[in-house]
Amino acid sequence: MTIEAFQKQIEAIYYKRDAERGVPLTFTWFVEEVGELAKEIRKQPQDMERLREEFADVFAWLVTLASLLGISLEDAAQIYAQGCPKCEATPCVC
Ligand SMILES: [Zn+2]
Repeated sequence: MTIEAFQKQIEAIYYKRDAERGVPLTFTWFVEEVGELAKEIRKQPQDMERLREEFADVFAWLVTLASLLGISLEDAAQIYAQGCPKCEATPCVC
C-alpha cells in the first residue's frame, strides 16, 4: 500500500468523524497515541505485535491530521526523496 492509498483508506474509514471533531481535538488524540507507542517501546520484553499495532495507530492519526489540514503525506514525503533536505546527501552529512 502506498502512503497515498493509506491516506485515502483512513479518510474513507474516519474522515467524516474526524472532520466533525476538528483539528485541535484530533491532535490531542494523535498525541495520546504517541504516548501509547512510547509505553509499548519501553515495555520489556517487547511485544512485537502490539508494537506493530501502535505504529499503525500513530501513522493513522498522523494521516488523519494531514487530511484535515489538506496535506498529502505522499507529497510531503517527497521532501526526502533526494536525500537529506538540507545537504541533499544520503546518508546525511550535515
Ligand atoms: Zn543533511
